[in-house]
Amino acid sequence: MIQQNIKAAIRDIPDFPKPGIIFKDITPILKDPGLCDSIVDAFVAGLKDTKIDAIAGVESRGFLFGLTLATRLGVPFIPVRKAGKLPHTVKQKVYELEYGTATIEVHIDAFKPGDRILIHDDLLATGGTVTAASELIHDMGGIVAGFTFVVGLGFLNGLEKISPISDNIMVLAN
Ligand code: IMP
Repeated sequence: MIQQNIKAAIRDIPDFPKPGIIFKDITPILKDPGLCDSIVDAFVAGLKDTKIDAIAGVESRGFLFGLTLATRLGVPFIPVRKAGKLPHTVKQKVYELEYGTATIEVHIDAFKPGDRILIHDDLLATGGTVTAASELIHDMGGIVAGFTFVVGLGFLNGLEKISPISDNIMVLAN
């Protein structure tokens, strides 16, 4: 049911942000508080047997449900941000994009070594972004406790890329 409701809410935007790309726009979900609630409920239910010390959400749409989920679970939220946005001392990871590189950062005191961190983003495409987030968390001494996504683009094989990192992967709609 939740899968159908998410799929019904998402809209395809052709040629955004560049020609040839069909962008999945999740913003209509945010207009539906009941659907937002059921998304967080579904994550909470699916994570009931997972030990989590904090949730890391990837900028920027990973902040939307990431903070709500962390608050519901009673654990801290860690913003994983693009380079230059976080004000305190950071640890960073540079990763490859189709053309060029990108950099993500986390505050050095965001969590303690040995903490179990669940990584959350709105959408899984190639898996490159959350793989970089996992590597950064690992470099900082954290343990990746799993991944949650509202949407997965099945044809891009993101699941194959991230399953060696953790097999605890929840994708609400494909
Ligand atoms: P990946 O690194 O290829 O898995 O891309 C996932 C990242 O890009 C996430 O942070 C998403 O928010 C963003 N992203 C990629 N494609 C889309 C899309 O069609 N809709 C919304 N976000 C997208």
